[in-house]
Amino acid sequence: MLEIKGLRKHYRGGGGAGTPALDGISLRIAEGEFTAVLGPSGAGKSTLIRCINRLVEPDAGEVIWNGKPVTGSPPEELRNIRAEIGMVFQQMQLLSRLSVMTNVIAGQFARMPRWRSLLGVFPAEAARQARSALAEVGLSGLEGRRVDALSGGQQQRAAIARVIMQQPKLLLGDEPISSLDAVNAERVLALIARLHREKGMTVVLNLHNVAMAKRYASRIIGLTAGRITFDGPPEQLGEHELKR
Ligand code: ADP
Ligand code: ADP
Repeated sequence: MLEIKGLRKHYRGGGGAGTPALDGISLRIAEGEFTAVLGPSGAGKSTLIRCINRLVEPDAGEVIWNGKPVTGSPPEELRNIRAEIGMVFQQMQLLSRLSVMTNVIAGQFARMPRWRSLLGVFPAEAARQARSALAEVGLSGLEGRRVDALSGGQQQRAAIARVIMQQPKLLLGDEPISSLDAVNAERVLALIARLHREKGMTVVLNLHNVAMAKRYASRIIGLTAGRITFDGPPEQLGEHELKR
């Protein structure tokens, strides 16, 4: 269970006299839910997702993951909590000059000696898991390819393979399909849906595409100017909910 209580964030600087990015958000997301966050640009979607694992520090409020406070937890506890939370971004945040294999393994084996990643030599079990994750996302055979030689869709699938290696209980996505064409967007969402279904992963994604959000998510949260304007099943999201 993910609990968010009274979350507030007001960015300073940049003439920050305006409205807060998050204006007191409270939510409970049950284990196994697939939630999509929708809303216009600047609504606070990205800030909300990033406050959940404290990539952005909220000014006030609480985030509690399975009874453990994320907000206020010291660095070593935060590290343990983050190990259970996977994240995919619009820009995949892969190491573009290194191999697909290195990228997929790197997330989980961050403490591996640097020569391993430079030479592409990994413990056999890690390599086996990575190959299996790459097969799941349809990238078998591209293990040795440099990431910057992949297409955008392949890169996002490599990022998903990295998340599969992590085996997170919660998957956060900050516009994970926004940089992809329709075919790859569908493919990546279908992959995330399969992880949700088969591994019981709780999923919270910011999406721009309302139709796809309605198709994949079991719950839609509408955000406008840092406040929740809609929270319900996709069937209840009518045209009037999308007007601002
Ligand atoms: P969304 O993801 O819905 O587009 P964001 O969370 O990115 O919304 O942004 C919410 C508001 O916070 C916007 O007004 C945006 O300009 C502002 N904002 C986001 N990130 C920063 C930042 N790093 N510094 C200053 N303002 C920011
Ligand atoms: P942008 O300014 O980034 O182009 P839009 O304003 O077009 O973003 O909104 C992005 C999508 O989110 C649109 O398809 C819109 O229908 C939907 N949307 C906008 N506001 C809401 C809201 N309050 N709740 C749910 N969905 C919304």
